[in-house]
Amino acid sequence: MNWRCSSFDFDTQMPIIMGILNLTPDSFSDGGSYNSLQAALDQAHAMIEQGAQIIDIGGESTRPGSDEVSIGEEISRVIDAVRVLSDEGVCVSIDTRHAEVARACVDQGASIINDVSGFRDPAMVEVAKSCDAGLVVMHMKGEPKTMQNDPHYDDVVAEVCKYLDQQAFMLQEQGIEKDRICIDPGPGFGKTPQQTIELVRNFQEIRRLGYPVMAALSRKSYIGYAYNIEVPADRDDASAVEALMACELGASILRVHNVERTAKELANLRPLVFLALGCNVALVGNDGEETEGKIAQLNHAIGELCMLPDSQIIDISSFYESEPAYYEDQDTFVNAVVSMRTGIPPKELLDYLHTIEDSLGRVREIRNGPRTCDLDILDYQMYVVNTDVLTLPHPRICERDFVVKPFTEIAPGHILADGTPVDSVPAEERIGRAHRIERSL
Ligand code: ADP
Ligand code: MG
Repeated sequence: MNWRCSSFDFDTQMPIIMGILNLTPDSFSDGGSYNSLQAALDQAHAMIEQGAQIIDIGGESTRPGSDEVSIGEEISRVIDAVRVLSDEGVCVSIDTRHAEVARACVDQGASIINDVSGFRDPAMVEVAKSCDAGLVVMHMKGEPKTMQNDPHYDDVVAEVCKYLDQQAFMLQEQGIEKDRICIDPGPGFGKTPQQTIELVRNFQEIRRLGYPVMAALSRKSYIGYAYNIEVPADRDDASAVEALMACELGASILRVHNVERTAKELANLRPLVFLALGCNVALVGNDGEETEGKIAQLNHAIGELCMLPDSQIIDISSFYESEPAYYEDQDTFVNAVVSMRTGIPPKELLDYLHTIEDSLGRVREIRNGPRTCDLDILDYQMYVVNTDVLTLPHPRICERDFVVKPFTEIAPGHILADGTPVDSVPAEERIGRAHRIERSL
């Protein structure tokens, strides 16, 4: 999946650091003077040197409880830095809730509009329509001044996802291309620390919406709460660790204060791997319970995957029931796809999978025939290989409905390591038609 921001095109499979440049009076004294502009530019250049690919410029503080500033004041604080950096070829993002500010900055070359009010203002949508900047759609409950007054959610993850999905859909209804849109669950915006933690520990749910995801976690109060660090500026180590976790769960754009510290932490990001699970011989259960028996076996395999060293399961698709493919004289299958982050190299991972298959009593008499459990590596990030024992990406992903459906459920828009989109074959041309199994927990 790529994120298109004017002339910039970001590959969202790799983390993208967005460095924060606050041009509010409490950061760089008095907006317009030469000295403060030079100090702002120096800081932007330093962040780029340290690995920032985007500079996010803001002239209004949207911290909880902050006061509004006039539009004219906000524009004068940011406009020179936006123009100079854009002219230098930097990807500049403007962090604003105000359409006039966004308009002025896009006119001066800004490539991204980062709107904490999530394009609720029709005037902001008009600005978005009139340009080709990237758009960050953020979730915020209420307004900055009052948003922290006892926010309530029945299910914070579901509600934030629903809102982001609706706003992104609304922008597309207005004619805006999908690949310009990035979504941000808005940690700390109308959320208690506990609600924010629930949200950031479930970034895989946000990734499932099919847009690049921004993690703007840096120095947020939930980090103060979770790590017991009072002073925001002291939260950079914890913020970097949180950024890494968010990336592992599916976030792509990291909006941070300390670029150097974040870049260092992101070097620890493990490859993203997708596995296919399949079963059509239940060891237990009969008649109507056979499907449950097959599901139980896949759950058993997932339990084994949880115990792999240096690995973490990120997401698990629903279970799908599918017609047998290739060798048709056999029972229906149950399939699922699992995503994980792992430090295990590909061939070693395959050995582990074979061990798990064996522990589940795998039957292997007929090629493509009945099996108690089949575990295949579908895709291993940035790794393409074709040998007798291992082919990656798995060569038959796209033709198999029972792989594509669960795969696109957890990773819509995913591009395989060889550049092929998972959904490149139309559904009606795929074999092994699969149906999601509806289950109540
Ligand atoms: P199936 O084709 O139904 O998965 P097997 O699991 O018996 O059948 O696979 C046969 C062989 O395929 C394995 O021994 C393994 O070495 C090889 N293979 C090649 N590429 C892969 C892959 N990406 N994932 C799993 N197995 C693979
Ligand atoms: Mg196999």
